[in-house]
Amino acid sequence: MQILDGKTVANAVKEQLITETVAHKNATSHSPHLAAILIGNDGASETYVASKIKNCADVGFKSTLIRFDATATEKEITEAVIKLNEDDDVNGILVQLPLPKHINEAVIINLINPTKDVDGFHPISVGKLVQGLPTFVPATPFGIMLMLQHYQIETAGKHAVVIGRSNIVGRPMSILLSQNTQYGNCTVTLCHSRTKDLEKICAGADIIVAALGIPGFLTADMVKEGAVVIDVGITRVADESKKSGYAIKGDVDFENVAPKCSFITPVPGGVGLMTIAALLKNTLAATSAKQ
Ligand code: NAD
Repeated sequence: MQILDGKTVANAVKEQLITETVAHKNATSHSPHLAAILIGNDGASETYVASKIKNCADVGFKSTLIRFDATATEKEITEAVIKLNEDDDVNGILVQLPLPKHINEAVIINLINPTKDVDGFHPISVGKLVQGLPTFVPATPFGIMLMLQHYQIETAGKHAVVIGRSNIVGRPMSILLSQNTQYGNCTVTLCHSRTKDLEKICAGADIIVAALGIPGFLTADMVKEGAVVIDVGITRVADESKKSGYAIKGDVDFENVAPKCSFITPVPGGVGLMTIAALLKNTLAATSAKQ
């Protein structure tokens, strides 16, 4: 069993980005610039955005954080996105999800200029992804593909099971794994909350991507010997032994599943780090495309 180490791969991606960013700055006197909009004070969202901002600094990007109270109106958020669309210095825009219930997520995402859509959630980005055209790939599935590539995991002809059909993880993941590309070419089964016989489907899988948000959901009896297991789940579970009062748990029962796997990602230290590295890659791509 080999651990797919998010730290190693993310650092390799970041090293490459640092070199490319220096070259970009020397050529243009401009720094890649990511702008993030954060609404409310959800603890997990605060942590993710803070990490994205820190990672921008690590690779030499500029970043701007625009904060709103949870009571902000859709009009206020709309105006902020339009302003960032029009700002020539800003290359990438992300709106941290989830949004408060009174704000229509689709309205906000559809407003982002597709050339700055570094999260890859705009319908134009999604359409291009489905057609296999160059585009911004949502950061989590993109990060997982970078990981498969780094460890040269063979995927062609394999049966991949993706658990979860969200627009940000499961669905784009299923598309990427099924595409006719070097780390695609899988036969993909996309499972969700209404799937029957999930245990049986998983037990036949060569590759499992668990992205449902239920800690420890994927148990050893659902995994065949030698499978590749990618754990996307991040759930905060109360843990008084931690200073923060919680521990981060993945969707996989790691302790019992890991011994059966050929490769497995840990949580934390796996996909989460790759998500940020992929977002940075998208931001530099947005910057380079503009020049
Ligand atoms: P989501 O809630 O939007 O989607 C969950 C999906 O799981 C749904 O499609 C649902 O049908 C499916 N599901 C729920 N219960 C199920 C069950 N019993 N059996 C089969 N399928 C079931 O979640 P999301 O935004 O896709 O995130 C999923 C998990 O991944 C969460 O824990 C989230 O925090 C985490 N996440 C991690 C990263 C990262 O960088 N590691 C990024 C995004 C999301």
